[in-house]
Amino acid sequence: MANSEAHKRTLRSNKLGLVCLCGTLALTAAVQRADPMSKIAREYVRLVLAMGQHDKDYVDAYYGPDDIKREAESAKLALDAIGAGVKSLRAQVAAVPPAADELGRLRHQYLEKQLAAMSARVRMLGGERLTFDQESRALYDAVAPAYPDSHFQAVLDRLDKRFPGGGSLVERYDAWRRAFLIPREKLDTVFTAAVGACRERTGRHVKLPAGEHFTVEYVTNKSWSGYNWYQGNFRSLIQVNTDLPIYIDRAIDLACHEGYPGHHVYNALLEQHLVKDRGWLEFTVYPLFSPQSLIAEGTANFGIEVAFPGAERIAYERDTLFPLAGLDASRAAEYYEVMAMVDQLSYAGNEAARRYLNGQIDAAAATAWLERYALMPRDRAAQRVRFFDQYRSYVINYNYGKDLVRTFIESRGGTPDRPDRRWQEFETLLSSPRLPSGLR
Ligand SMILES: [Zn+2]
Repeated sequence: MANSEAHKRTLRSNKLGLVCLCGTLALTAAVQRADPMSKIAREYVRLVLAMGQHDKDYVDAYYGPDDIKREAESAKLALDAIGAGVKSLRAQVAAVPPAADELGRLRHQYLEKQLAAMSARVRMLGGERLTFDQESRALYDAVAPAYPDSHFQAVLDRLDKRFPGGGSLVERYDAWRRAFLIPREKLDTVFTAAVGACRERTGRHVKLPAGEHFTVEYVTNKSWSGYNWYQGNFRSLIQVNTDLPIYIDRAIDLACHEGYPGHHVYNALLEQHLVKDRGWLEFTVYPLFSPQSLIAEGTANFGIEVAFPGAERIAYERDTLFPLAGLDASRAAEYYEVMAMVDQLSYAGNEAARRYLNGQIDAAAATAWLERYALMPRDRAAQRVRFFDQYRSYVINYNYGKDLVRTFIESRGGTPDRPDRRWQEFETLLSSPRLPSGLR
């Protein structure tokens, strides 16, 4: 994700974003002086930025004051010094009495968990080895359920009946799926339409900050399929990776996940409610290997279902996206019927990552496992193993994160039969510093 082009853009835009932010922070300076948490927040930001000097993927976004960034860059703190700083900051957070209001308590818990994760990441960069589950608990405040091979085999058996014939199942599935490819020359038209539909649906339920906006770029040679680089001042750069064929379902998936109501909206609402309204500086930085990522990925994936519940999605795609992509619209329902079956293999990716990162299998075996159990064609499986190398147990944030978010929203009354309540609870979650253990 840390391609230099993207970083240059992010930094340039951060400077633009600052002009507005500094004014906001100056206005809230008096409030901050009376709050011991503001000193802690500033030091937290400085330490996260210091980590970025050792780990190019660590700082996913920063749009806070430029002087903290300059300070972190010139200090060039060694890992040990960062570790000591985190330890001291954790003691300071523990000494602050709990806030009277819920949001204040969430803020306190958020800093505790984010700092605990930073401490683990410092130890990992220093050479400490954790198992997959130990790592995900330490970094993301969650351990994903494990499934035996038989769980996936039962799904594969059903798919085998759906796609009878010779050759491997992944080959038969891949051959069928080719009819649903978005031609490269139509990608931007289809994706732009999907973004518009996601924004319109989100805007009906969520008050989006004035002036929010993102730009889209098509890139290659990445281990991920899409990325949102949040730049502050309600702006994002969204990159779509075109290394591999893009099927029709990815248009809505990516538009919702990266844009509306996913990452772009999550970051913009945090900026609006926590940074601009309250002056909580710690939210101007987003450390990637931290519990915040489970909330970010979980809400981005669950948001697809919130914006486009099953039948509505099929109808929209049949009437709009399939024709724009030049695909046979009469097959939209068939496509999503199969996609729902394949989605039941989602946790197979976690199993491959768990075994691979625990050293039980090598990269070739992990690729073969993904082909067989996650039904990924070879090139996609190989791309996924590169993702494991770069982001490790981060993989659980997508599927387990989505499941935790769904359980949380539905436990608060946001069930599919109550769409308004579903959106309301979803927006509340996107606007607050809630963390994975707080979803259970
Ligand atoms: Zn994401």
